[in-house]
Amino acid sequence: MQKKEQLYEGKAKKVYATEDPDYVIVSYKDDATAFNGLKKGTIAGKGVINNKMSNLMMTMLEKKGIPTHFVEQIDDRNTVVKKVQIVPLEVIIRNVAAGSFSKRYGVAEGTAFKSPTIEFSYKNDELGDPLINDYHALALNLATAEEIDAIKKMAFAVNDAMKEFFKQLHIDLIDFKLEFGRFHGQIVLADEISPDTCRFWEADSWDTTKHVSLDKDRFRRDLGGVEDAYREIFKRLTGEE
Ligand code: UDP
Repeated sequence: MQKKEQLYEGKAKKVYATEDPDYVIVSYKDDATAFNGLKKGTIAGKGVINNKMSNLMMTMLEKKGIPTHFVEQIDDRNTVVKKVQIVPLEVIIRNVAAGSFSKRYGVAEGTAFKSPTIEFSYKNDELGDPLINDYHALALNLATAEEIDAIKKMAFAVNDAMKEFFKQLHIDLIDFKLEFGRFHGQIVLADEISPDTCRFWEADSWDTTKHVSLDKDRFRRDLGGVEDAYREIFKRLTGEE
C-alpha cells in the first residue's frame, strides 16, 4: 500500500492516507512529549521499537479474540491500520498505584490493587485530558452506552492477556492507556501499545519505596537510560538487539 497525503501529525506519529479509504498508514517518530506537551525531547530509535512492539501486541491480542486496527507492517516505522474514528476517551487500566493515581488519591507508588481499576479521560488537549466517568462520557456524547460497555470489557481482556504475556518476560505491567475506534460500526482497539503508553517495572524490583522502570517514566522523570529501557523491553519481546 502506498502513502498518499498526510492527514494528521500527532506528538509521536504521523498518519497518511492510502489509495483505499478504509486504510491509513501510521508512521512512528522518535519525538517524545510529556505533561501535555510541556516537556519535549527525542528518544533515538523509539519510533522503530514502538511500531514493531505495538504490532506484536496487537497481533497477540487478535489471537485472543480482541479486534484491533492492525492490518500490516510495511517497514520499521510504517504500518497499515484500519481507518477508524477515534472515540475521544483515554482508557486507563491500573494493576498497581503509580503516577497520577498515586498523586490524586495519596497512595504510595507500588501499592498493588486486589483487582484492576479502569478510568476514562476525555481526550482533549486544550482541557488537559480531564478525568471523567461513564455518565460524563454519555452526557458529552463521546460514546454510546453499548460502546462504553464493549470498551470496558475489551480493556480488561487486554489487561489479562498483557499481564500474563509480560510476566513471562519478567516484567510487571503496572498500568497502561488504550484508545478505541469505530470501524464500520464495530469498536476496535486502536492507537498504540508501547513503553510510551504503559508502565513496565522490572519484576521483583519493586515495593512502595523503589522500582526499576522500563518505560517512558525514564523520560518523564529524567531517570536516564531512556533509550536503553526501550531497547531492553524490545529485546525481551523479540530477542533482537
Ligand atoms: N498515559 C498515556 N498517555 C497519557 C496519559 C497516560 O499513555 O496522555 C499512560 C501512562 O504511560 C501510564 C498510564 O497511562 O502507563 C497511566 O498514566 P497516569 O494517569 O498515571 O498519568 P501520568 O502519571 O503518566 O501523567
